[in-house]
Amino acid sequence: MKVTMLGCGASAGVPMIGCDCEVCTSNDPKNKRSRVSLLLEINDINILIDTSPDLRMQAIANNIRRVDAVLYTHDHADHTHGVDDLRAFNYLSNKTIPVYGDQETIGILQEKFKYVFLPRPQNIWYRPSIEPHVLPDAPVLQFTLMGLDFVAFKQQHGKIATLGYRIGNFAYSTDVNHLPEAAFDALQGVEVWVVDCLRYTESPTHSNLERTLEWIGRMRPKLSVLTHMGHEFEYHKLASELPAGVVPGYDNMVIEL
Ligand SMILES: [Zn+2]
Ligand SMILES: [Zn+2]
Ligand SMILES: [Zn+2]
Repeated sequence: MKVTMLGCGASAGVPMIGCDCEVCTSNDPKNKRSRVSLLLEINDINILIDTSPDLRMQAIANNIRRVDAVLYTHDHADHTHGVDDLRAFNYLSNKTIPVYGDQETIGILQEKFKYVFLPRPQNIWYRPSIEPHVLPDAPVLQFTLMGLDFVAFKQQHGKIATLGYRIGNFAYSTDVNHLPEAAFDALQGVEVWVVDCLRYTESPTHSNLERTLEWIGRMRPKLSVLTHMGHEFEYHKLASELPAGVVPGYDNMVIEL
């Protein structure tokens, strides 16, 4: 399995529009963070997690030619508003793309982006063609997608729920400020964990450095990669502050499992 971190930035991205701070004005590519998304490549199947508003540039930067399915974590704009860019993959494969998420997420996508669910246009890919699949509501859910076994686990993200995903020994937990016990159970034995870490200070909707390190201390994966990071984090400064086995993510980072 190959995991590509397409984006590791907070909802506004880094640099942020109108900000002159040290990180936003840094020329280091590791301080440039597009909106969060991951690509999983397993047995020649490409699964995209979320459609970031930066999807087009992420796909070009990583030479992505195929998306076989999309798993959504939740409906927030920084995770969904790149849905229109899926039409490039419809065009390349000549196929409709199945997308998965909880009832709330699929419902809001259908409301906000009604046009992407219309019957598939004939051979003209001027709009995306996606097929919605609702994952049943459960604290922990096992499901099969294209012959691959996934686990979805519910996480708390302020007032809403998000889905974390696990496949084999890899797990992804973005947009979470509280992990229920069932989620910790679902994460048992994970070797690589990409996990939310917005900033140093507390947030009502995201994890901060102290809390994320607490979770990592409890789960002890071989490698933990921080994501959904804002402009408070200077990459090298943060990297020097982390314990062994924990690293900040960066755009286009590749993890082989
Ligand atoms: Zn987000
Ligand atoms: Zn800034
Ligand atoms: Zn969110």
